[in-house]
Parts: sequence; structure tokens; C-alpha cells
Amino acid sequence: MKKLEDYIVSIPDFPEEGIIFRDVTTVIQDPEGLKLAIDTMSGFLDGVDFDVVVGPEARGFIFGMPIAYKLGKGFVVIRKKGKLPRKTISQEYDLEYGKAEVEIHADAIKPGQKVVIVDDLLATGGTMEANIRLVERLGGEVVKVVFLIELAGLCGRKRLADYSVESAVIYE
Ligand code: 5GP
Repeated sequence: MKKLEDYIVSIPDFPEEGIIFRDVTTVIQDPEGLKLAIDTMSGFLDGVDFDVVVGPEARGFIFGMPIAYKLGKGFVVIRKKGKLPRKTISQEYDLEYGKAEVEIHADAIKPGQKVVIVDDLLATGGTMEANIRLVERLGGEVVKVVFLIELAGLCGRKRLADYSVESAVIYE
């Protein structure tokens, strides 16, 4: 039987020289890969008491939504700045070069709600830190953060040390 890592394709020198890009499209385009990914990631939530799944654009949507559906929860989106139509709060964060800004609808999380955040990949943790900040500013409690892939060498887990972090596949 194939393992989850067998479905992930590693692309050298993308998007720039020296970077190995872990492509997740090859996981989800295969019915067995898709099932394995969602079952493994949702398995981390067995016995976890939570209210809602949050996923950031775009690959957080891909993995977050089916997990929310499977576990009977709602799904809240975090989007890049300027995409959400109603009142939002936004959070800036640093990229390797420059800055990015993400937003969430101000009424999407109620104070005291227990939140699980899902994304495809943990690298430095900067993106997830911004997601967490948005949820917490709305009064949500982040009870777990779930990734398909973790690049352990970039120490994102250390940056998210105050949170419970789960990853289905870890590359050293
Ligand atoms: P971080 O903020 O943890 O450094 O970077 C994580 C973010 O960058 C995630 O939102 C993820 O989608 C994207 N990312 C960075 N490297 C890769 C990669 O190799 N593969 C994929 N699929 N996404 C990546």
C-alpha cells in the first residue's frame, strides 16, 4: 500500500534555485492519495473538542474544507487582502522578501470558540503565526494546528511552540 509521502512530488529549484518545492497537487489528484491525506489529517482531531476549522487561501482551503465537512464542523476562510466583502480584520506578516497581509471576516469567529487551523505545509511558521493572530484577535482559542507537510529544518514548530502542532509527513 502506498504511503502519503509516495504521493508528494518534490520539485528542485522551484520557485527559485536552491528551493525544493513539495507539490501537493499530486496527492489530491489521486483518489487514494486524497483519502489518505484527509483521513490522516482528520485523525489528528480524534477526541479533540473544537467548534470550527479555519483554513488560509489557497491550499488551506483544499485540506481544511473536507476535514470540516467530515467532522461536521463549519469552515472559516482566511484570504489575501482585499478579497473578503464584509467587515474584516487584517494581519501583516514578513515574507523572505517583503510583506504579505491576510484577512478574516470580523464575525467569522465568536469569542471563546475553539478553533483548529489547517494548512498544507509548515516551513518557517510565519504564515501560520499570522493566521493564529487573526483567530486570537477575534477571541478564538487555537486548540490545534494541522499540516499535511512539515519542513522540520526550517524550525516552524519552534516558532509555534505555544500550540499543539500535527503534521502528516515530516521532511528533515
Ligand atoms: P512559512 O510561512 O511556514 O514559511 O511557509 C508556509 C507557507 O508557504 C504555506 O502557506 C505553504 O502553502 C507555502 N509553502 C512554502 N513552501 C512550500 C512548498 O514547498 N510546498 C507547498 N505546497 N507550499 C509551500
